Amino acid sequence: MTDSDYRFATRAIHAGQRPDPTTGAIMPPIYQTSTYVQPALGEPLEGYEYARVTNPTRHALEANVAALEGGRHGIAFASGLAAIEAIVKKLSAGDHVVTEENTYGGTTRMFRTILARLGIDFAFVDTRDLDALRAAIRPETRLIHLETPTNPMMRVTDLEAAAAIGREAGIPTCVDNTFASPYNQRPLELGIDLVVHSTTKYLNGHSDVIGGLVVTSSDEWGEHLYYMQKAAGAVPGPMDAWLTLRGTKTLAVRMEAHNRNGLAIAEWLSAHPKVEEVYYPGLPSHPQHALARKQMKGFTGMISLELGGMARARAMVEATRLFALAESLGGVESLIGHPAIMTHASVDPERRAAMGISDGLVRLSVGIEDVDDLRDDLEQALAAAP
Ligand SMILES: *Cc1c(COP(=O)(O)O)cnc(C)c1O
Repeated sequence: MTDSDYRFATRAIHAGQRPDPTTGAIMPPIYQTSTYVQPALGEPLEGYEYARVTNPTRHALEANVAALEGGRHGIAFASGLAAIEAIVKKLSAGDHVVTEENTYGGTTRMFRTILARLGIDFAFVDTRDLDALRAAIRPETRLIHLETPTNPMMRVTDLEAAAAIGREAGIPTCVDNTFASPYNQRPLELGIDLVVHSTTKYLNGHSDVIGGLVVTSSDEWGEHLYYMQKAAGAVPGPMDAWLTLRGTKTLAVRMEAHNRNGLAIAEWLSAHPKVEEVYYPGLPSHPQHALARKQMKGFTGMISLELGGMARARAMVEATRLFALAESLGGVESLIGHPAIMTHASVDPERRAAMGISDGLVRLSVGIEDVDDLRDDLEQALAAAP
């Protein structure tokens, strides 16, 4: 049997991991070392020379997440943004990227303020509209970067169709799968070339590590990304790799709980008189509910809600007791945030407005606490809002 013969929950626990050959330790050791002794000149043991390039704990995590996404290569980076940067740095000055306009704020900031300055051109497109995606492609386009569901508006892009557009034009496609997690959505199975994660979020799931990871079945991309680890060096340390691996073991059970709590809270919020709109792909009222059902197994704990103005939004986010007011998402504990002031503060106000990120928008990362306690907390916080 190989890892790919097993089903998802089994792979989450076993893929990439073997008992340590010297002791039988069932958990992969944390190889906290910077270098490796060579028994003879020019003959390192099993290719272990220097820990920027190779580390067994990191390799265990890379193989584990690669198996969860169904790809051949997993390549870990020090953060989600470092992983996205490593992908785009396969390109050169003069090349062009078509990117989803509602992508994560930090990704947008990196594209606009760093990579654009180095001569890579970006077109920001609403990729729900496949004609707009097709129309944005130029002769010098070298990458299509997608994100679905998007942060924080929960827009959904048709991955199978977008992959086909890329393939037809000979342009590789990449999906930021952070919001969905491989439990709910596996882009490689839909024809996408690269999947990138902020492992900081659902994959690690315990809000105690910053990390990133790319999975691909393309040997050419795999080679580029291993080269980026070695030649640019934004790799995670062994302790962070080990903690993330501890998180991925429970991904299946955690995502089941996030999906269940997320749906229950989204349904409850949509009936609340102070809530004007709920953005959640799992609700039949979501304009792309049918597409979401087609390409996702569940809809996560990520919900955005429109309260109609800053005063009500501020009062709500400051009144919750269980939902902590904090950036980030995907941990076992519930968080609440205000995108316009927090995650998307770096996006200029006109672009924010165009994306629907109003002053009344509140984002929830629903954790896996008892759902009745979560509902009670939101109820009292909404009661406190004018
Ligand atoms: C958090 C996040 C990132 C950035 O990841 P870091 O680990 O914080 O660098 C990228 N994409 C999405 C969708 C995210 O939520």
